[in-house]
Amino acid sequence: MSRITQFLKSYSIGDFISFGACVLAAVAICLWLGGLRGTKEPEPPTVDHIVSSETITVLMDGETVSMDMVQYLTGVLAVEMGPDFSEEALKAQAVAAYSYAKFKVVNSPGNHKGGADVCNSPAHCQGCLSKPTYYSKHGDGLAEQAAAKANWEYMENCVQQVLGYSVEYQGQVINAMYHDSSPYSTVSFESVFGYDVPYLQAVSSPELTGFEPRRQMYIFSTDELASAVSATGAQNITLTTDTATGRVSSISISDTTMSGVDFRSKTGIRSTCFSLSCSGGNVYIYTLGWGHGIGLCQRGAEVMARQGSTWQDILLHYYSGVTIAEPESN
Ligand SMILES: [Zn+2]
Repeated sequence: MSRITQFLKSYSIGDFISFGACVLAAVAICLWLGGLRGTKEPEPPTVDHIVSSETITVLMDGETVSMDMVQYLTGVLAVEMGPDFSEEALKAQAVAAYSYAKFKVVNSPGNHKGGADVCNSPAHCQGCLSKPTYYSKHGDGLAEQAAAKANWEYMENCVQQVLGYSVEYQGQVINAMYHDSSPYSTVSFESVFGYDVPYLQAVSSPELTGFEPRRQMYIFSTDELASAVSATGAQNITLTTDTATGRVSSISISDTTMSGVDFRSKTGIRSTCFSLSCSGGNVYIYTLGWGHGIGLCQRGAEVMARQGSTWQDILLHYYSGVTIAEPESN
């Protein structure tokens, strides 16, 4: 006798009728309860944002706020890189941004207004947008808000995948500086600031294999240029260029000589990788790249990501002699 036949034989017809009545009763009760709640099932609660256990005090547009680290780093990605970048580049950027912030917390805690450890000025620390501000910048339409949500969640997911990882040099978190674009090579910290930081050296950057270089032209009258660099005029301009990096190491204008870094600072041009020409009383300056050129190059990181590099590969390339530290257990 099969097991099924044994099972059927052990129950009478009356048992099945009783069982059927119970099922019908249960369905009726469920329908009744459903009617009490309305015809539509309630939406499952949406997670407003995902939080980590770590927070950071941020001076956000003049106001000191405590931010959850996932929200802070996603807000940094939104300003400093953006959702058009590949996942591995965003993850490398997130770890660099976390290391940069942690370096500030460890080495200069509370040195902003209100005791904040960092601010959201890209010129001083790292840019950062709150989630509501990011959404509001996309516009009020359904399509715009849907795009904002998709973009934010994409970046947030990248942050979560690398949350707590940091870049260290000899066991200490590094000052993980980064910049937009170095077409040929990054530059050393020493070449800009005058003293050596061992993990911030000049390294090759593969940017030219993936992008048209960032080019910009500036036009100064000779008087404007002389005034900007505090020279008596703008004649006899000579440049000394480092052939390895394509950067101007020094520039002489009339009676004044300065480093390419000083010239960039005084004129506000994007990069120390530049050439110039003079014509009709004007000086034309042509820049390549964007930023100080130190540390991780974002466009180079994107090229590496498209070529199959991981976020770890990218960080180990742009920061010399470093290790990737695992998240601390807390
Ligand atoms: Zn700051």
